[in-house]
Amino acid sequence: MEPVTITEVLAARRLLAAHLPPTPMWTYPALNAELGATVYVKHENAQPVGAFKVRGGMTLLAGLSEADRSRGVVSFSTGNHSQSLAYAGAALGVRCVLVMPAEANPAKVRAVRALGAEAVLHGADLAGAQEHAEHLARTEKMHLVSPGDTRELIAGVGTLYLEIVAAVPDLDAIVVPVGSGTGAAAASVVTTALAPSCRVVAVQSAAAPAAHDSWRAGACVTRPNLTRVEGLATGRGFDLPQRMMRSRLADFLLVTDERIGVAQRLLASHAHTLAEGAGAAGVAALLDHRDAFAGQRVAVVCTGGNASPAELAALGPETAG
Ligand SMILES: *Cc1c(COP(=O)(O)O)cnc(C)c1O
Repeated sequence: MEPVTITEVLAARRLLAAHLPPTPMWTYPALNAELGATVYVKHENAQPVGAFKVRGGMTLLAGLSEADRSRGVVSFSTGNHSQSLAYAGAALGVRCVLVMPAEANPAKVRAVRALGAEAVLHGADLAGAQEHAEHLARTEKMHLVSPGDTRELIAGVGTLYLEIVAAVPDLDAIVVPVGSGTGAAAASVVTTALAPSCRVVAVQSAAAPAAHDSWRAGACVTRPNLTRVEGLATGRGFDLPQRMMRSRLADFLLVTDERIGVAQRLLASHAHTLAEGAGAAGVAALLDHRDAFAGQRVAVVCTGGNASPAELAALGPETAG
């Protein structure tokens, strides 16, 4: 599959204009003081489903052929991709079946069902959910969507990076949390075209480093997937986003789940922001790599705000600071 082009991202923006307004991006002096940099928080937690993926889901379903539209789509995810397709399916009248791991975040399962999509709980992890989704695609003759290797998803997600570089054209870096890599791939294509001097830095949980290790190895690898951070919980590299990230990423950092928790508390206390773990991973990277960003202008994508009940409880009465 060829890399997604800036032309496809611009086309996605035209398509999404009728459905999703731009999200806000703010900088918070108290947070900046804590992190030693001018940090712009891009609020994808303010999307209607609480995560950036809806940009991709909308772009994908709006572009489906009439035949695929009537067959319906089936896909698999830990939650936010499912909510995204469910939202787009409801808006555009397409049947969606979403396979989520048996232990999926109940808030995400509830949201998918409330949107009128079918949530099927199956498998111990994303790989187990994928197998069942492939089975359903064969037996029910539905259109199978890979959450990683699907160019419309990357093109749609790219619109958020168009918004970032338009709002602050002289950024030094954008820090992007990574699971399958669609977001970081999209950041790569947009900055290459429109902000070539802006570094793109990816971040993943050290407890599920498949995308990180794939990028370092230059080939897709599988790795144990032990993170509690749902949006980052993948056990393998995805080919298309990996190829797009390969030459463009300035660096790929790992942070622990514990530091992600600290970053969640920091966003709550210093930026009025409820982030799920994945949405706070960029701030965790800034906490752990101060020297790499000191004094710079850095955008971090708060990719999502769908914290599980356990994450909410873990925010606790103490705040970082
Ligand atoms: C999916 C997701 C990610 C990771 O995005 P990829 O495009 O899969 O790399 C990060 N944060 C949140 C909240 C997500 O839902």
